[in-house]
Amino acid sequence: MSRFWSDLASQLTPYVPGEQPKAERLVKLNTNENPYGPSPAVLEAIAGTSASELKRYPDPDSSALKAAFAEREGLTPEQVFLGNGSDEVLAHTFQALLKHDKPLLFPDISYSFYPVWSELYQVNYQPVPLRDDFTIDVDAYSAPNSGILIPNPNAPTGVLLPREDIVRLLGAHPESVVVIDEAYIDFGGESATALIAEHNNLLVIQTVSKSRSLAGMRVGAAFGQAPLIEGLVRVKDSFNSYPMDVVAQRATLASLADEAWFRQCCDKVVATRERTDKVLRDLGFAVLPSAANFIFARHPGHDAAQIFAALRERGIVVRYFSKPRIDQFLRISIGTDEEMDELFAALAEIL
Ligand code: PMP
Repeated sequence: MSRFWSDLASQLTPYVPGEQPKAERLVKLNTNENPYGPSPAVLEAIAGTSASELKRYPDPDSSALKAAFAEREGLTPEQVFLGNGSDEVLAHTFQALLKHDKPLLFPDISYSFYPVWSELYQVNYQPVPLRDDFTIDVDAYSAPNSGILIPNPNAPTGVLLPREDIVRLLGAHPESVVVIDEAYIDFGGESATALIAEHNNLLVIQTVSKSRSLAGMRVGAAFGQAPLIEGLVRVKDSFNSYPMDVVAQRATLASLADEAWFRQCCDKVVATRERTDKVLRDLGFAVLPSAANFIFARHPGHDAAQIFAALRERGIVVRYFSKPRIDQFLRISIGTDEEMDELFAALAEIL
């Protein structure tokens, strides 16, 4: 490797994703997937993909899918940007909208990809501490900045930022791009997309990976006024990347058309989350209030790394972060009721 590349590589912090174990017998509660799978209409749509669709390049504008997202959000297609998962949409956002002299602000405990992209795309950033109770204090975002990025609900805490705080943030920073990453919004929050008409500095990012159970498909979207979206399109076009393949477009269209399946799965996840919250408290855990499809909890009497390891030995995978302030927490994705029962039984044995 040349000196240049090895020097560059050594400066980057690699992102370590959650484990994707191969063994089927594992209870996998570590990467916030949705246990119910997509609507049956999605599988039909995928199976119905024709040879003539596959042999051609996909519609570079994904017009039909953009129109479907736009209709769902009460926006126009010019206010929608699509990418291969919200990770790609976020990466384009860093490149197109967040690189300025003044720093980008985001919570010190949030999606661990944010510092990774900041370094990769040389975006100057400044983490803003959460309050002691892990809520976001929007008044703490007072440093001069050119962008603010907040996951809502936050990850890995699951804590929701109320809509009025987002409005306050937008009002206080009219010159900054305010990005709300709504990967988990469908499990208990109210989307900020309704604020787009009033705020030209707001970009909302969503994904079909979680609430629509399509993590394997890689489809994400950004919503905002046309000039912001135009910035993203320019970066995307410079990469010569198509928004997504024909199968992903078909699958996502079918998913958006089956609102009943979507609602039913979200409701089931929320009901299981509430039950999990109660059982964990009964087992002595301190649990943060979650509006997402995962729970962030710590046990005052037991070391989180040890609980993590003991669960792993029993074939149950949760997420452990060895980071300051959260190294006594476990992040537990909400699975089916049966999977959670296995978790509870294992915890009762371990504790
Ligand atoms: N934002 C947050 C806060 C996430 O937790 C994730 C998933 N790990 C993503 C974005 C990316 O999701 P995807 O690329 O599957 O859309």
